[in-house]
Amino acid sequence: MDINWKNLGFGYIKTPYRYVSDFKDGKWDDGKLTQDDKVVLSECAGVLQYSQSVFEGLKAYRTKDGKIVTFRPDLNAARMADSAKRLEMPVFPEERFLEAVDMTVAANKDYVPPFESGASLYLRPFMFGSSEVIGVKPATNYQFRLFATPVGPYFKGGIKPITIRVSDFDRAAPRGTGHIKAGLNYAMSMHAIVDAHNNGFDENLYLDPATRTYVEETGGANFIFITKDSKLVTPKSDSILPSITRRSLCYVAEKYLGLTVEHRPVKLEEVAEFAECGLCGTAAVISPVGKIYDHGKEICFPSGMENAGKITRKLYDTLTGIQKGEIPAPDGWIREIK
Ligand SMILES: *Cc1c(COP(=O)(O)O)cnc(C)c1O
Repeated sequence: MDINWKNLGFGYIKTPYRYVSDFKDGKWDDGKLTQDDKVVLSECAGVLQYSQSVFEGLKAYRTKDGKIVTFRPDLNAARMADSAKRLEMPVFPEERFLEAVDMTVAANKDYVPPFESGASLYLRPFMFGSSEVIGVKPATNYQFRLFATPVGPYFKGGIKPITIRVSDFDRAAPRGTGHIKAGLNYAMSMHAIVDAHNNGFDENLYLDPATRTYVEETGGANFIFITKDSKLVTPKSDSILPSITRRSLCYVAEKYLGLTVEHRPVKLEEVAEFAECGLCGTAAVISPVGKIYDHGKEICFPSGMENAGKITRKLYDTLTGIQKGEIPAPDGWIREIK
C-alpha cells in the first residue's frame, strides 16, 4: 500500500473489504465482508430500469490519541431507513447498519489515514433493487452494500470561500423526494452542476420550486446563515435533505457557543441582509460562501472572498474539535471502532 495521504483528492480508491447483505424471500441474509468489488446484476434489475437506489455518506478517521471513530453513524442508519421507506425498499435494520460500518472500517483499518494528515476513510453505504423489474413496481430483491475509500482533506491550504449561483433548475418537487438521500435526486442535478461549473460557479443554490422565492439548499449541502447580530438561521422546508452536519452545527451553536438558532423558511430576498453564509455536509463540514450570483445581481457577504466569516470559523473549529476528540462531545456522537 502506497498512499500519499496529503495529496489524496475525493476519488475512488479500492480498499480490500466491503460489506454485503442481500434481501431475498422477504428477509435479509446474515451479511458478510467480501473482497469482491464487483456487482453482477440482471440487465433488467430494478435499479437499472427505474433507479430504485438510496445511499449514505460518512467518514471514519483517527483521533489524536490513535482511536478510530465515526461521527453519529446512528443518524445515517436512521436516515437510510427513511430513504428506503419512501422508495418502497425494505429497511436495512439500523443496528445492522452500525455493525456493517464497524466491520468494514475494522477490516480496512490500514486505510484509515493518520490523524495529522487531515484525510479520512469515506464510507459509502448504499442499497438498490437487484431483481428484474419491467412493469413499474418495486423490486422484490435488494442488496445493501458498504465500501470504504480513503479521501484527502477537503480544504488544502486553508478554507477559501466559494461563489455560487441561483439556479434556474429545480432540485426537488414539493412533496417529492428532496428529503431523502436517493441517487435519483443527484441524476437530475448533473446537468445543473455541469452548467454551473461551465459558467464559473462552484455550486447551485436551489429555490423552492413552487414559488421560487425561498432558499432550499445546494445539490449536496444545506445552508447556514449568520445574521449581523450573530444568530444562526437555517432554511426549513420539507424538500431539504436533513443534513447531519447541519443538525450538529445547530446544536453546537446553541449549546457550545450560546448562539440563538432559527430553523425557518428563508426568503431569497432576505439573504443579502446576512453577514455570513456557509454550506454544510460531511465532506467539508462547512464551506464558506463569499458570493451569490443571481441573474446579473451579486450578493457579496461582508465576510468576503478571502476568509471564512468569524462565526462560521468558530462553528467549524468547534465541530471539528469535537470530531477530533479535542473538545468533549455530546453523549453518543462519537463511536469508537475497536
Ligand atoms: C448528503 C446531503 C447533504 C449533507 O448531509 P450530511 O449528513 O451533513 O452529510 C445535504 N444535502 C443533500 C442533498 C445531500 O444529499
